[in-house]
Amino acid sequence: MAEEKKYKTGKAKKTLSVDVLKYVSKYYIEANRAKKKGSKPICYHTSLDPIEIDYAMGIIPMLPENFAAICGALQIAPDLIEVAEQRGCPSDLCSYFKNHFGYMEGGKDLPSMKDAFDMNLIVLPDPDIVCSLRNICRLHPIWMRQVARFYNVPAFTMDAPQLHPKTSLSKIDDHYIEFGVSQLKDYISFLEKHTGRKFDMERLSETVALSDRLSKIFEEIYELRKVTPCPVGGEDLNSLVFFLVTEAGSQEAVDVAQGILDEVKDKVRRREGALPEGTEEAHRVSFVGIPPWHDMATAFTYMQKYGATSVDEIYVRAFSGFAGRMDPSHPLESLVRKYFFIYPTTTEQALRLINIEDITGYGIDGFICWNLTTCRLISTLIARLKAMYDLFNIPYVTCDADQVDPRQYNVEQVRNRLDAFFENLEE
Ligand code: SF4
Repeated sequence: MAEEKKYKTGKAKKTLSVDVLKYVSKYYIEANRAKKKGSKPICYHTSLDPIEIDYAMGIIPMLPENFAAICGALQIAPDLIEVAEQRGCPSDLCSYFKNHFGYMEGGKDLPSMKDAFDMNLIVLPDPDIVCSLRNICRLHPIWMRQVARFYNVPAFTMDAPQLHPKTSLSKIDDHYIEFGVSQLKDYISFLEKHTGRKFDMERLSETVALSDRLSKIFEEIYELRKVTPCPVGGEDLNSLVFFLVTEAGSQEAVDVAQGILDEVKDKVRRREGALPEGTEEAHRVSFVGIPPWHDMATAFTYMQKYGATSVDEIYVRAFSGFAGRMDPSHPLESLVRKYFFIYPTTTEQALRLINIEDITGYGIDGFICWNLTTCRLISTLIARLKAMYDLFNIPYVTCDADQVDPRQYNVEQVRNRLDAFFENLEE
């Protein structure tokens, strides 16, 4: 409790009118209600799992990673992480995991959790089943197995193939797709067996259509961000990721996203940028990595004094998929394309997708790489990208920060690096 204020940092100033926290609270409240009534099973997932299948079967997907990000933003994470470390988790283990592990292992009853008003609304209901797809990091399936042991519930893990380095995302061989489809079918059988719910392909086509609509709306927003001045910055986009991560396949997400798109279009018509009124857009940067949810002010608002705004975030774009649009008449194949082929399961497209074309498309002046101290996946991705930036002589800066754990975070050092980066850009 005494520590509660120690890590407080500012929140980023947002420009869109949507109240994301309202939708987040609603999502958690409805999930808890369903759990209490036993009306819908709860399935825990790691992020970038095919949750459209859950929606098609009336199952509620819950993502402890999303929960961890919220705890980070609300400055609750350090207390939970300390519980996890007292239970033996190493200090350099993923802080998203430790946040959840600490929550399970007694952290949910900490006074600081109860004192945080928002945490009374945002409570993780216990799972009935758990699932993970091996498409991102090694920890994901282990995490879900750990949860399954703790709650004594069934677990399922799907495998994702590693693409050949020369495979292009626009031309993925059939055998990769067939393998992915077989994994999804096994997942569906698992769900039928453990929830007693029947799978219906037509219903899945509907949720895939909704998910595709959501991705398309976001792609339209990304396109509008190429305009100068950029109508919406990374401070907004990173919180909107909630809809892509947890509600892909729901009507609500589509409705909210459509409202956001309309607002962004209006801003473009009025030539209203993401920067505060009177600040001219001088620099456009791309944000690489998961944001430090505990200090979004430094990540996004701080650069405004240089007339800079984040116009592109690869982390956000990953959630709409990289391998093309989804086709509701082939829902399983579409889900394989969306979820099985993202940058950790590939090599070539991490370079092709993320950057070179974006530098011209978005008019990016440089990259701000957020090196996450407890995420090997992002830190190795950043190392690969930096080699490419060096090759093409593209400016970048690296800031060290964990996504939710501020205990080792040196805000002065980060701001100094940002100062040096923007001063160099101005020369
Ligand atoms: S190690 Fe990185 S990719 Fe894996 S769960 Fe943690 S934050 Fe996500």
